[in-house]
Amino acid sequence: MAIQSPIVVAIDFSPASPALIAYAWSLAELEGREVHFLHVVPRAKWAQDTSAQSQADVVQALQSLTGLPPGDGGRLVTFTHQVRIGSPAREIITYAKECSAGTILIGTRGRSRLVNMVLGSVAQATLRDAPCPVLVVPDSCLVGPAADGFSPPSEAVDPAEESFAIEGHSGSGPDANRVIELLRRAIQWRATDVHIDTVGADRVWIRFRVDGKLQTFCHLDQNLAAPLLMQLKLMADLDTTQTFEPLEARLKLPPALGGIEVRVTIVPACEGDAVALRLLKHEAIPRPLGTLGMSEATLSSVETMLHHRPGLVLVTGPTGTGKTTTVYAMLQALGAGDHNIVSIEDPVEYRVPGIRQLSVNARHNMTLTRGLKTLLRMDPDVVFIGEIRDVEALEIAVRASSSGRYVFSTLHTRDVASTVTVLRDLHADNYSLAANLTGIVSQRLIRCLCRNCRVAAPITPDEQAVFHAEDLEPPVELFQPRGCSACKQSGFHDRVGLFEAVVANSEFVAAIQRGAAEDELRQVIRATQFRSIHYDALTKVRDGITSLSEVDVLSWM
Ligand SMILES: [Zn+2]
Repeated sequence: MAIQSPIVVAIDFSPASPALIAYAWSLAELEGREVHFLHVVPRAKWAQDTSAQSQADVVQALQSLTGLPPGDGGRLVTFTHQVRIGSPAREIITYAKECSAGTILIGTRGRSRLVNMVLGSVAQATLRDAPCPVLVVPDSCLVGPAADGFSPPSEAVDPAEESFAIEGHSGSGPDANRVIELLRRAIQWRATDVHIDTVGADRVWIRFRVDGKLQTFCHLDQNLAAPLLMQLKLMADLDTTQTFEPLEARLKLPPALGGIEVRVTIVPACEGDAVALRLLKHEAIPRPLGTLGMSEATLSSVETMLHHRPGLVLVTGPTGTGKTTTVYAMLQALGAGDHNIVSIEDPVEYRVPGIRQLSVNARHNMTLTRGLKTLLRMDPDVVFIGEIRDVEALEIAVRASSSGRYVFSTLHTRDVASTVTVLRDLHADNYSLAANLTGIVSQRLIRCLCRNCRVAAPITPDEQAVFHAEDLEPPVELFQPRGCSACKQSGFHDRVGLFEAVVANSEFVAAIQRGAAEDELRQVIRATQFRSIHYDALTKVRDGITSLSEVDVLSWM
């Protein structure tokens, strides 16, 4: 559990500031967090006007402002106020980093500017580089009492903060830049997906999936989000008049954003458009086997599968656990130079030179089975079938492996033993399974603790027992997540694989052939070769790579 981090409220003394403060109070109260009020005096103004406005005056102004009726219970919230001088966005970001802020609350000003700016430039620049989620609250939805005695300082904007255009993109204008900017931020956060949802009548919630978990990026007023969504549809070449049908499209990002392809899915949900953007990193290079997080024992089992004899190698696990990455690492280890490698996937995730890759395309009648039959006529040594989903695909896979080829594929199963059950459910007979199966790798992905902020705590007797149950010597202390600006307060950074790998040795093959049930298969595996995925997880907890709470998630899968 990450410790609650403070809310930084950027105050600009506009008429809407009291309402912004009231909003901050309610948020702080609700979540039991500290509030840091921050006013940045633009440097240029400060230099010209030293006599009239000293830093002490600003502090006093802030004190009066934060002393405004905060609503019931507002006094229960701990708060401080700060004044900085410089470029507003830069100072807000620096301060947020210094205090490890969990949220930045910022207002945007001026209805007239809404037309051509949508977001104020300070808000936009803050959004771009903030170390944590930013809640942008436009003054159009904050109707608060005027702050008597304060005249809003004229907005001083660093010219460098004004420009967000990414050159060379087909879309143009501020809205196109905003779409690009949102995607740029998603890439910067290492997000795989962006989710945009309408919440209530007037707000839009933008979340990123980072390391497999959803994180709030920001909330936007519907007035700001509507032109952004419209622009997204235009850029993806979607029919903007079609509001009752689900829409799907692809959007190619400019080279400045790595040429990433974005799969856009828009569904008309009850409250408004629900948008899912999947960032497909086609250019990503497959990772070598040694970098996936496999233990020495697992690596050696996988090496055996690759060099033992051709046959069927299955990589299994739930969706989004890196199965394709593992298969490509294996293909790379086999070497494209010595083998004719072909693949059919839905869609192709990594583009690898030297491998003949085919994407399933239902619109052009290129189904998995049809593509597979075509590929098998191309004299392949190694075949990669993206996923075995039906009886026919499995039947072709088994037949291809029985003629002396390596066949790799993936399956959705819980562990190695249950994979055999799923294969039997897909009408594979015990004899051909036993004859053609080379090995099964089962895997998960877990989040790694952020090295910057993980905290050590002495191990408890209950935690020790977890290690003893797997015949592991427990460590003296265990690491837990905390949260810092480097990991966007999540406490985690990046992910690593957990594996169990079983080579189809004589005992395993014999058990399959005599029709052994799952439990018996597990006993056979345990007795003859391998360490379970749970064991692998605990070694990674012991080594401080992840936390025990993260590994507990495995029991729910
Ligand atoms: Zn951290």
